[in-house]
Formats: sequence, structure tokens, C-alpha cells
Amino acid sequence: MKTITFLLSTTLFLCSLSTIGQKKISKNKQEILNSVEKHQKDLIQISDQIWAFAETAMKEYNSAKILADYAEQQGFRVERGVAEIPTAFIASYGSGKPIIGIMGEFDALPGLSQKAQTTKSPLKEGDAGQGCGHNLFGTGSLGAAIAIKELMEKGKIKGTIRFYGTPAEEDLAGKVYMARAGLFDDLDVCLDWHPDYENKANMQSTQAVTDYTISFKGISAHAAADPWNGRSALDAAEFFTTGINSMREHVEPSVRMHYVYTSAGKVPNVIPDEASVWLWIRDSKREGVAQVSERMKNIAKGAALMAGVEYDIKLNSGLYELLINETGAKVLHSNMEIVGPITYTQDEISFANQIMKEYGLEENGINGNIKPLETKNKNPSGGSTDVGDVSYIVPEITLLATTAPYKSPWHSWVVVACGGMSIGHKGMLYASKTLGLTMVDLFENEKLRKEIKAEFLKRKGDEVWKAMLPEGPPPVPAKTESSK
Ligand SMILES: [Zn+2]
Repeated sequence: MKTITFLLSTTLFLCSLSTIGQKKISKNKQEILNSVEKHQKDLIQISDQIWAFAETAMKEYNSAKILADYAEQQGFRVERGVAEIPTAFIASYGSGKPIIGIMGEFDALPGLSQKAQTTKSPLKEGDAGQGCGHNLFGTGSLGAAIAIKELMEKGKIKGTIRFYGTPAEEDLAGKVYMARAGLFDDLDVCLDWHPDYENKANMQSTQAVTDYTISFKGISAHAAADPWNGRSALDAAEFFTTGINSMREHVEPSVRMHYVYTSAGKVPNVIPDEASVWLWIRDSKREGVAQVSERMKNIAKGAALMAGVEYDIKLNSGLYELLINETGAKVLHSNMEIVGPITYTQDEISFANQIMKEYGLEENGINGNIKPLETKNKNPSGGSTDVGDVSYIVPEITLLATTAPYKSPWHSWVVVACGGMSIGHKGMLYASKTLGLTMVDLFENEKLRKEIKAEFLKRKGDEVWKAMLPEGPPPVPAKTESSK
């Protein structure tokens, strides 16, 4: 199949000024758009570098450094290694209230290395790849923060802008450790965005999840000579998963449970004295996960009793569902309309169609339109994010922006390829602009901030946020040569 590659010059640019001209916008908002355009070359370069680094959870040393260094060059105060995570950082500018936060991720997914082309070919065999577009996410958010900082510098808005470099979203729940350290507590509002195949102000929650390891310990013996002396940990693990599978019929339809065996014996002629199951329990609400978790604990106990072995349940981490904020989403939506839809060249549309065909999916082009605001809450889509925890601490507004062909398979080489070329870059710059404009409204309009806060308090209700984490410091892996 023919491969199309793009020159960086074709990435410039997305929405014409005439589209913007249809809506009258304030001088401050015009300055945001100008700032993103002024920095777009740098932003694309940084994003492409993070795309090529493709560093996984808690090992994003180069990715965090390039973002933190750029923020520092732009005049932000940068605090590195926050919450005992070397790759977590906060870049701030300004002083006093209001304090608006914006989050940026940058971690990659293992095994997804891919070139920015329409056929499947790893950049480096076996390496990680940006299968969730986090290179665009981190850089795009920083672009918005820089635009706000420039307005503050000129004295046109007052308060504090804070960019959060949030590592380890795909694994190890980086934001939950940052939240446990109290780093989000004093924010008035927090924003973020996520790469997607549609442009919309997010009105959809995510699933709460809790991640456990259940281990069984028995007695090994010769499986044929004296099995009566053995007690099988694997039997217990099998009783346990049978119990979990039977429970599926008696839980709410919104519950999801999935597991793998992480240890199940070594050879058939030795009765396994160790076996373990890695289990995730999800539901649309934290409360639902908590209820199923209690039943899971009894199943583990019962399984251990049946097999005559010991058991242990370890909490690895847990995430809250995302609390949406309709007031915030409406403001975001109005600013998306100012920026206008993303337009694509014929080459980009051909790239999108060819890559989808190559993957084996329908060729639907790229959707750069702005989706109407959804006002009815649907059930959350399958998946969880550590943004959920932040959304229980402060009001949170999320943008989704197109960075891949319509209906792209997420966490796949398709998303990696598009995130390293103009389709991804356009979505990133669109996010910088839209989030920058929205922050202008948040800084300027106290009444709006109050309304957003009131809705947040109403949706949160009595729930008191508590980090679902084991005791002790974050699980930062030892630094290796490859993760300098
Ligand atoms: Zn993601």
C-alpha cells in the first residue's frame, strides 16, 4: 500500500480567521488565538519529540523534562518531582485568586511503537508508542497555559495559572498520588482535554475502578506420589474466579469485572503452592465498585477455605468516576464554536482512509466538526481515568478533540501514527486555543466560577474523596539506562 508522508509545512493551519471573524470576540480572546499561532511551531516540535520518546508510566524522564524546560523558558515557576514522582511537575505563573489549573499527560503504551505512516511498521521493534495521543495532550495543554500567562504578563487578567505535568495515566494512577499530596486542593477550576475522533465538550462520565491482586498460598507436594500432603493454591484461584464469574449474574449491568492469572504453578507434577489473580472491578459509580469489592472479599475467603490454603488481598489502586460539569461544558462548547471546526487537506483525508483500510475498518474520513453539546447523561463508556479523582476535588472541564480518523481503534498503532503527523497536530492546536479561550472566561467571570462550583458541590453530594492507594510512596520504578 502506498504510504503518504507529510511535510510539517502542510500542518499549518486549521481554521481560517474568517471563521473566527463570524463571531465577535474580545481582545483578550484574540490574543489567546494569536499566542497559540505564535508558538505553534515549538508546540508541534515538542509534541513530536515526546511522540518519539514514547516513555511509559513513571519513566517519562525526557518527556517531562522537555515540557518543564519549555515552561521555564516561557517564564513559569517550575517545581519538579512533586508528590515524590520524579516525572511529575507543576509550572505556575501569576499570583493570588482565582487559581485555574490545566493538566497535561505524556505517557505512552508498551508495545505500540509505530511510524507516522499508513502501514503498520514499528519505529523501533518492541518499543512503546503514543497509542492514546498523550504527546499531544501534554503539549496542547501547555500551549493554552502559555497563552494565558502572556495575558497575565500584560496585566490583562489576574490570578494564577497552573500547568500540571501529570505522569503515569495509563498505569499506576499518577494523578491520584498528586491528589493525595493535596496539589489540586486550592484550585477554583481544573481543565484538561483528551485526543479523540470527535470534537466535543465532554458530558460523559467514566467508570470508577479498583485494581486488586488476590494471592493464595498452599503446600506443594508430588502431584502423583503424595498429593494428600499438598494443598493447591491454584485450586483456590480457580474457585475464586468461578465465584467471580457466578457473581456476574447478580450485579448491576453497569458492573465490569476482568482478571488474569499472574501465577498458577510451574509444572503439572508439583502441586502449586502459590497462585494469584489480578482483578479489576468497575462500575459507573465508586459506591457500586465498593459494594462488589466487599462481595469479592468473601469469595476469596470462601475459595481459600475450600482449598485449605491461605489468602491475601492487595489493593493496587482505585480511580473515581469522572464528575462532569455541565456549566463548564457549555462555556467550553461556546469557545469551540469561536475556533470553528477543524478542516483537513485532501492528503490528510486520504491518509485517514488508507490507515483505516489497512487496519481493517471502515473508511470514514476525519471528523473535524463540533459535536452538539450532549445534555442527557449517557452511561459512561468503558474505561477509567485518574482525571476522575481530580474531578471529585475541584470542578473539572474536559475537552475532546479530533486527532485521528473517525471511529479509530484507540490504544492502537493507528492512533500512534496520526499523533505523529499533521492530523494529530491540528487537534492539539485546536485544544490549545479552545482551552485558552475557556480559561479567559474563567479568569474574567467570577459569577461563572461560582456557578461551576455550585454545580460541582451538588453533583459531588456527600462523597468525601479519599485516595484509593496502598500506604507508602508511589511505585516509581528504578531508573535504568533506557529511561534516562
Ligand atoms: Zn489517554
